[in-house]
Amino acid sequence: MTHLYELTIAQARDLLQRKEISSVALTQAVLDRIAALDPTVQAFLTVTAEAALAEARQADAAIAQGRTASLTGIPVALKDVICTQGVRTTCGSRILENFIPPYDAFVTRRLKDQQAVMVGKLNMDEFAMGSTTEHSAFQVTRNPWNTACIPGGSSGGSAAAVAADMCLASLGSDTGGSIRQPASHCGVVGLKPTYGRVSRFGLVAFASSLDQIGPLGKTVADCAEMLQAIAGHDPADATSAPQPVPDYRAALTRGVHGLRIGIPRSHFESPGLDPQVADTVRRAVATLEALGAVTVEVALPHTDYGVAAYYVIAPCEASSNLARYDGVKYGLRDGGSEELLEMYRATRSRGFGAEVQRRVLLGTYALSAGYYDAYYRKASQVRTLIMRDFAAAFEKCDLIASPVTPTPATPIGAHADDPLAMYLSDMYTLSANLAGIPGISVPCGFSADGLPIGLQLLGSHFQEERLLAAAHAFEQATEYHRKKPVLSL
Ligand code: GLN
Repeated sequence: MTHLYELTIAQARDLLQRKEISSVALTQAVLDRIAALDPTVQAFLTVTAEAALAEARQADAAIAQGRTASLTGIPVALKDVICTQGVRTTCGSRILENFIPPYDAFVTRRLKDQQAVMVGKLNMDEFAMGSTTEHSAFQVTRNPWNTACIPGGSSGGSAAAVAADMCLASLGSDTGGSIRQPASHCGVVGLKPTYGRVSRFGLVAFASSLDQIGPLGKTVADCAEMLQAIAGHDPADATSAPQPVPDYRAALTRGVHGLRIGIPRSHFESPGLDPQVADTVRRAVATLEALGAVTVEVALPHTDYGVAAYYVIAPCEASSNLARYDGVKYGLRDGGSEELLEMYRATRSRGFGAEVQRRVLLGTYALSAGYYDAYYRKASQVRTLIMRDFAAAFEKCDLIASPVTPTPATPIGAHADDPLAMYLSDMYTLSANLAGIPGISVPCGFSADGLPIGLQLLGSHFQEERLLAAAHAFEQATEYHRKKPVLSL
């Protein structure tokens, strides 16, 4: 018999509904797992054990009375950028170290409506800026497949917790790849929805035109389940789409027969792409072909400029969004000075880490008078060209396949003195954010060192169903998602 913490959402729900297990037992198994492994993995910033067990008891009562919802009694965890009423939400930053939100994010509320059990809040790069989770102010999360390696980021805690069976599924946020990239590095499934599909209300803002919340899970079906719970219109987020929410579960079994998969040749020939990753992803595409998909070549000529455009636009938006952390309204205040400007300076110097300060400086510079046209405006024009590339590509194909990251997970500290190298590792993911389109990472193999590799599938706006169907078909035809990391305790 598998351990309870190893269950997928689908398996757990089945056992819960049939009353073969209780949510209290399942939640306790997950909490015990966290207690045993998290001192090593360090995925959690807060574990809400007592509240989780209380929610589990309520879930068991609901099951006994036949009042169930889609996630009744399922233990999940949230990236610490998502507000949780009464539960500390740090964003991985000293400046919000003691911030306890007086309200729930839209997605938190949705999970509660579905009677999910929240076991805790997950580590991340400070304000979601980074690709390694090394830029958390509190701890470095380890990759469960090799604890000397990064789990990816910025949703590194969300990916590592799922990979190590410390929750059944989690939520992350993706501004330039932060769900897909850690999912790929940790061998789990991660979905970034279309911009506007999921409300950003209660998501601490990094770059508002790019940020999107999405699920990480052990299987594609579990991601569909989580997306079903959190998708939908929210009047509190002006950018949330009034589009009806389709039945994502029903979409899973549609298969890939006849689907046209676009292959951007440039994405398989980029310098810096590890040949192991290229080969593994090519083999994954061949599997999709064997399942009935056809491949067509597509061109995405401007995505080469995606990194440059993103690292202007995202810091510009960040410098504006982070202006609110001034020691007055939220969180930390350095009270050493009576003088207002000095208080701001001291608070922000102490409260923000080096990477966040670098982004604020870059963004403030790029937006300042005289530079706006050269940087922000230019980057926005490039963004439009990238959107047009995707629109043209999706005339010829239904999905685009590519690597998620140019290499498997790197050793902790590898990019410590070289932020540019870290920025370049986002080359395959961030164009989807610039264009607002959805993307999924699904496990498709392992490196010679046993580190997971993901396949990225991108779709046109609001084509999550197609992504889920293709990823599910691939997963069902392969065994990669069944392999588990072996963590020595
Ligand atoms: N790695 C990218 C960055 O550092 C993306 C982060 C994200 O998606 N939140 O900005």
